[in-house]
Amino acid sequence: MTSPTRWLTSEQLGPHFDDGGEIVLVEVLEQYRRRPVHRQKAHLHLSAVRHRARELADRARIVTGPTHREALVEAGLTGDRLETVGAISWGMRRLVEDLGGTMLEPRGFVTERATFDDWAAGKNASQLIMDRFYREVRERTGLLMEGGQPVGGQFSFDADNRERPPKGAVSLGLPDPWRPVEDDIDAAVRDDLDRLAASGARFIGVDAPRRFAATREEALAALDDFVESRLNDFGPYEDAMLRGDAIMAHTRLSVPINLGLLHPLEVVERVVAEYEAGRAPLNSVEGLVRQLIGWRDWVWHLYWHLGPDYTTSNNFLDARTPVPEDWWRPDTSTVAAACLSDALDQVAQTGWTHHILRLMVLGNHALQRGYDPAELTAWFRDAFVDGTAWVMPANVVGMSQFADGGVVATKPYASGGAYIQKMSDYCGSCRFDPKKRLGEDACPFTAGYWAFLDRVEPRIRGNHRMAQPLAGLRRLADREQVVAQERARDAY
Ligand SMILES: Cc1cc2nc3c(=O)[nH]c(=O)nc-3n(C[C@H](O)[C@H](O)[C@H](O)COP(=O)(O)OP(=O)(O)OC[C@H]3O[C@@H](n4cnc5c(N)ncnc54)[C@H](O)[C@@H]3O)c2cc1C
Ligand code: SF4
Repeated sequence: MTSPTRWLTSEQLGPHFDDGGEIVLVEVLEQYRRRPVHRQKAHLHLSAVRHRARELADRARIVTGPTHREALVEAGLTGDRLETVGAISWGMRRLVEDLGGTMLEPRGFVTERATFDDWAAGKNASQLIMDRFYREVRERTGLLMEGGQPVGGQFSFDADNRERPPKGAVSLGLPDPWRPVEDDIDAAVRDDLDRLAASGARFIGVDAPRRFAATREEALAALDDFVESRLNDFGPYEDAMLRGDAIMAHTRLSVPINLGLLHPLEVVERVVAEYEAGRAPLNSVEGLVRQLIGWRDWVWHLYWHLGPDYTTSNNFLDARTPVPEDWWRPDTSTVAAACLSDALDQVAQTGWTHHILRLMVLGNHALQRGYDPAELTAWFRDAFVDGTAWVMPANVVGMSQFADGGVVATKPYASGGAYIQKMSDYCGSCRFDPKKRLGEDACPFTAGYWAFLDRVEPRIRGNHRMAQPLAGLRRLADREQVVAQERARDAY
């Protein structure tokens, strides 16, 4: 009997997906004609796959075709000739099942599906709370635990990690982050993508020299660089935004982790070791551990737990506005709101923004304006270099858009300009005033917040966490004018 060939996707490129046998990687350039993807994301994935194939030399080959199915069938990889390490999406799972391949247990996460299932057993959907899952993982793994108790006496130091940006600062003053040097593989990828663009394929954002790791060696360099220059500041400024500092103290490691080049546990063990050696503060280390063993694993398991129709069948707030055409380029020339314009510009220039811009600026704006949650999920997946099929549903449909009515988040993450003013320096240079909800200079987030509450009030009335905001809405003397103004607003 011939041993199976392992199909590894562009999200499974690190050593932990390789057990030494024959490997196939699939390249489907045609997919970039079917839907717009960020140019730098297409580059990164192609570059990472080709680098991996070169590293594995005789053991790996790249097969191509108009679709993944056709490429695999053409290469004779069906039935017991095909093996995969789990699936990274419902689509891939169906494909491997259709082709009769074998699916091993997934890798690249800290916990197994069985751990999540054990924990979720007997809980209804609204009891699947991330903080509780995180505690469970801390207890099971013993990470940052001492004698059965959390190190430092508490599981979460989130309360210490919500500092405003330093007063008057234009940046956190940290060194520029690590950047890769492009090589011949990148040059060939660029030529291929240029050819596709010239023959009609539409990309989101601009082309630029590669910013993120595409190989294991580069991923380790990016991790070293983060630990040396940013880890200590990671915690306090997790929620802060500065116009002149797109990266702040964030890791940007979602990119190599989602390509499978780093295992989240090795990142966690590395930063815990820094804490134990007295070189990094607990609030920063715990904050990052929570993101990686809590949030990331939780979002992954929810993707499978909530089923294949979760994104398309949930629209609790009846949000029907199409994602603006300008977001698919993205073009910021018509956007006056300083915060939104900068967030969209970062997407255009790099395909990446940090979490708070995703949640409290882009997501918050989309929530207030009622963007269709399934379409918005597709936008985030394709416009961000770290976007994957599994990461988006819980983050976008659930957390950012409250489209599932309270499974992932307990209340809508809507906020007015006051939050952005408190946590950033955007408002000082904006033509709008975060304190104003009526008039020429009414902030679209502040006025948009009230108009949003007005629109969704009948649906969220039963949510006790929204009782106070709704009481505020009912007290608003100019409610009707604000709602009429925001309905008529066609520019932000
Ligand atoms: C609307 C929206 C869209 C998002 N899109 C993506 C996406 O495309 N890809 C993606 O990996 N994450 C996504 N996230 C989660 C989070 O914003 C990113 O992981 C993070 O901003 C990536 O930057 P970083 O590596 O510097 O993160 P850091 O702030 O340095 O955090 C460390 C790591 O924790 C993990 N992490 C933290 N929060 C989450 C989360 N909610 N879900 C999954 N992993 C998490 C990531 O691996 C990240 O690298 C999204 C969140 C929201 C609200
Ligand atoms: S005033 Fe409003 S639109 Fe302008 S930066 Fe502040 S929050 Fe954003």
